[in-house]
Amino acid sequence: ELLSALRKYKPDQRRLRAPPMEEHYSAADLEAAMVGDQFEPFFQPKVELATGRLCGFEALARWRHPEHGVLSPHAFIDTMESRGLIDALTDVMLDKASAWCAFWRNRGLDIKVSVNISIQSLADVGLAESLIERVRRQGLDPCYMILEITETAVMIEVGRVLENLARLRMKGFELSIDDYGTGYSSMQQLTRIAAGELKIDRTFVNFASHQNDGRVILRSSLEMARKLNLTTVAEGVETPEDWALLAEYGCDQAQGYLIARPMAADTVADWAQQWDP
Ligand code: C2E
Ligand code: CA
Ligand code: CA
Ligand code: CA
Repeated sequence: ELLSALRKYKPDQRRLRAPPMEEHYSAADLEAAMVGDQFEPFFQPKVELATGRLCGFEALARWRHPEHGVLSPHAFIDTMESRGLIDALTDVMLDKASAWCAFWRNRGLDIKVSVNISIQSLADVGLAESLIERVRRQGLDPCYMILEITETAVMIEVGRVLENLARLRMKGFELSIDDYGTGYSSMQQLTRIAAGELKIDRTFVNFASHQNDGRVILRSSLEMARKLNLTTVAEGVETPEDWALLAEYGCDQAQGYLIARPMAADTVADWAQQWDP
């Protein structure tokens, strides 16, 4: 039954296309915006499915464009990755996200914050040390930071990447496999990088909520993850039906519009206070 279900699953092809679909902004635009400090994290809550307890937030990059408003990553991530700007974004996101995490924790919120790291950045020598240094400088222990890793079609220097991940793990960061179900993230990877968390992609959750085949795959993926001692987080939880299904299958945490959209950092504390599962 699982095999026939797998055969019918078609991941969202738009997200899997290797080259950027179109460059909305030039590398020069993005560099200028970086110099002007126009990038910031928005935060989206992750909550425990069984109890509703707030577990943490994922930091998602936003560009506060002086004329065009708040722009989401599809307007700039591909260009940043292809034009060598992604490491600068990683630094900004890590600095700001860990500073906010320290701030909220000091005010009594028992939360962790997740940051997205492109697999490309993980090929850098000395990356692990520089990330630790950045988080410590914000007065935060790295154990409160989760690094979400997405595998892409182009995987260069696997050895270096694995070495960096092992170091990051050793220094206390938690590792998370992002976009599980899109075709690039595989269970095999999980065991290689000692991840503590598995994030089920939104297209996968959506497939499960609409088709029985999707439910079969979701259920067995969650079962496997449990056996590997991974915390499971479902993305794109949009309806009470999604929530109920995931809770029934024993998924640990949920993230999605049903709970909250990604929000500006200065609104997070108020949101957390009124969140009453
Ligand atoms: P992702 O890591 O898979 O993040 C989840 C995306 O799903 C976010 O899109 C989020 O806003 C969106 N989302 C959350 N809940 C729902 C829901 O219930 N329904 C629907 N339809 N969507 C939902 P966003 O913020 O546009 O980010 C897109 C992607 O850009 C992220 O996908 C991530 O891969 C990448 N990204 C974002 N920030 C960074 C960053 O700082 N560094 C890197 N390297 N990549 C980033
Ligand atoms: Ca992510
Ligand atoms: Ca995803
Ligand atoms: Ca992703």
